[in-house]
Amino acid sequence: MYVIVRCPSCGDLMLANTVYQTRSCSNCNHRVMLRTLRVYGKAKTPGEATELMKRIKAKEGGGEDYTPTFRHLKP
Ligand SMILES: [Zn+2]
Repeated sequence: MYVIVRCPSCGDLMLANTVYQTRSCSNCNHRVMLRTLRVYGKAKTPGEATELMKRIKAKEGGGEDYTPTFRHLKP
């Protein structure tokens, strides 16, 4: 199972595999205990989890991932 959680240190969303109890933030390297965090979404596969994270970021007003696509649409 994959979960989407938010880093309590920098506020970045990240993907975590629930096989592990801890996860290091890819942004600030802060080590978090997964069970202490709020889960924003759950998925069975990494692909599904990535899609879910994109949707959560988009709902929050768009993340960095969306900027290149947006630029691409402009001439
Ligand atoms: Zn962080």
